[in-house]
Amino acid sequence: MRVTQLLIPTTKETPNDATLMSHIYLIRGGFIGGVGSGLYNFLPLGKRVLDKIRNVVKEELDRAGCQEVSLGFVTPASLWQESGRYEKYGKELLRFKDRKNNDFVLGPTHEEMMVNLVKQSVKSYKALPLNLYQINLKFRDEIRPRFGLMRGREFLMKDGYSFHSSEADMKREFALMEETYKKIFTRLGLEFRVVEADSGAIGGSGSKEFMVLAQSGEDTIAVCDECEYGANIEAAVRAPKKCGVAPPEADFAKFYTPETTTIEELSRFFKVDPFYLIKCVAKKALYDDGVSKVVLFALRGSEMLQEVKACNAVDANELVELSEEELAQSGLIAGFMGPIGLPDSIKLVLDEMLRDGNHLICGANEREYHQIGVDLSGFEGLYKDIASVQEGDSCLHCGGALRYTKGIEVGHIFQLGTRYSEPLKAEYLDENGKAKPFVMGTYGIGVSRLLAAIIEQHHDEKGCIWTKESAPFALEIIVSNTKDEQQSALAEEIYTALRSKGVEVLLDDRSERFGFKMKDFELIGVPSALIIGKNIEEGKVELVKRDGLVSELLDLSNIVERVMERL
Ligand code: ATP
Ligand code: MG
Repeated sequence: MRVTQLLIPTTKETPNDATLMSHIYLIRGGFIGGVGSGLYNFLPLGKRVLDKIRNVVKEELDRAGCQEVSLGFVTPASLWQESGRYEKYGKELLRFKDRKNNDFVLGPTHEEMMVNLVKQSVKSYKALPLNLYQINLKFRDEIRPRFGLMRGREFLMKDGYSFHSSEADMKREFALMEETYKKIFTRLGLEFRVVEADSGAIGGSGSKEFMVLAQSGEDTIAVCDECEYGANIEAAVRAPKKCGVAPPEADFAKFYTPETTTIEELSRFFKVDPFYLIKCVAKKALYDDGVSKVVLFALRGSEMLQEVKACNAVDANELVELSEEELAQSGLIAGFMGPIGLPDSIKLVLDEMLRDGNHLICGANEREYHQIGVDLSGFEGLYKDIASVQEGDSCLHCGGALRYTKGIEVGHIFQLGTRYSEPLKAEYLDENGKAKPFVMGTYGIGVSRLLAAIIEQHHDEKGCIWTKESAPFALEIIVSNTKDEQQSALAEEIYTALRSKGVEVLLDDRSERFGFKMKDFELIGVPSALIIGKNIEEGKVELVKRDGLVSELLDLSNIVERVMERL
C-alpha cells in the first residue's frame, strides 16, 4: 500500500480526554477516530491491526477445534427474562423497543443467545462436546467509558461457549482454552499472567483472567515472587497471618474511649497493634426486587475490606454506602460499631482471620465506648474471607512474598456449569434417553481492547511499537527524497519485489520532508523501515528497527532476501 493512497490522518494533536498512551497514539496515528463517548470508528490502519489480532485469535481457536458462528447483535429481551438477567444486569444493558413495542437488548455478552442456538440445534449427547464462538460487536452502557478502546461502550469481543455432557469434560475443555489463550497472547507478543478471578455468585475456583502486565492497568493483581500464583485482588488468597506483637490481655469490660473512632486513634489510645482491634464496616446490600439489608463486616484492624469478596459473602447484587440517616435508623453508631450485641435486623459477617480470636478490642455499639478483652472463641456467626490480600503477605502455596502489580484484563474463562442451561431449559438426551441440562463453559477475549493493551505494553515517547503479529504492515519503505528519480525508482522496485513475495509493505511515497515521514513512521510503529536515501550512491540502504530505533546499513545486492531475513 502507498501512503499517498491510504487514509492515515496522523496528527500532533493529543485528544483532550486522553490520558493513556494507547489512546493518544491510536488517535494521533490515525488508527481510530472518536464518534461519541466510548464509540470509535476504525480507520484503515486500525482495521488492519484489528484484523491481524482477529486472525491470530481465530487461527488458534480453530486449531483447538472451536467453530466460528455469528449471532445477532440485537437480542430479544424474552431470552434475558428467562435467564433472570433482564432485571439483574443493571444499567450496562441497553434496552429498547421496536415499533411493535417488543423489548430488545443490544448484546453485552451472548450466553442466552448461544444457549438458545444450541437448544434449537442439538438434541443428543452424540453431538457433544461443542465449542462455538464468534468475534462480534458487544454493547455495554459502561458508567465510565474511558481510555479509548480499553473501555468502550461498543467493542469487539471474542465470546465462546462450550457444551458438555459432564463436568469433567467441561473442565478438560477449560484447560484446553487456557492453553489456547496462552498461545494467542504469546503470539501477539504480550507479557501476561493467568490469574484466578472472582467467580461472582457462582463461586468455585472455575474462573481465570488473562492479564497483560502494564502500569496503566485498571486491575490490581497479587502475584507471588516465588511461584506461579497470581490472582485478581478480588479473588486473591494468602497463608494465615500472625502478629509478632504480644496481645493486650484484659478481662472483658466496657471502656470509656471518648472521640476515639478510627483504627489509628484506637491503636494509639490503647497502645495496641491494630491486629488486635476489630474494624467494622457497615454497608447496604442490594438484592433483587429492591430488597436491601444492612450488613456489618468485621475484620481485624490490620486488614482491609475487599468489596467484591464482601459482596459475594452475602450473595448480594451490589454493596452500597449507607446514608447517615440509614445508619442512624439501623442502630449503628459510626466509630463505635462492634460484632457483639447487634440489633437483629443487621447481618453480621466476620472475616476468617477473626475465627476464635482472643484479646480483642471492638466497638461497644454505644457512643464513646469500646469493649476490651473480647474473646471470640466459639462465637457463632458467618465467617468468610472478606479481607484484601496485602503486599508482603505470604503465598498460600509456597510461603513466598505476595506483591501487587497492575494488569489489563484481555481474557476471561469461566466454568459455568448449568447456570444458563437450566433456566433456559436447554437439554440434551443422554445415553439412556434421559433429558439433562448442558454443562457449559464460557470464554471471552477483548479483541478491540487488545489493540490498546499491546500499545500500553509496547510504546516509547515517540509512538506505537507494534509486535510482529499485530503490526498493520511488516515493513515501511521510506523514500528520503521523492524528487530523486533514482531513489523513487529503487523504492518502487523493492516494494514490488517484496510484495510479490507476500510481504506486507507500506510505501511512504509522499513528497514530504524526510524528517516528517520519519516522525510518522515512529508514531505509527510499523516494526521496521527501509530508508532509500543518499546511501544508494554507495550501494546501500538503511534498515531501522522501530523498537529501539536501531539502524543497520544493508548492501543493495540481494536486498529483498536481506530484508526478508530481518523481518
Ligand atoms: P472489566 O472488568 O474490564 O469490565 P468484564 O469482567 O466486564 O471486564 P467480561 O464480561 O469477562 O469482562 O468480558 C470479556 C472480555 O471483554 C474482557 O476480558 C475484556 O477484555 C473485554 N471487555 C469487557 N468490557 C469491555 C469494554 N467496555 N471495552 C472493551 N473491552 C471490554
Ligand atoms: Mg465490565
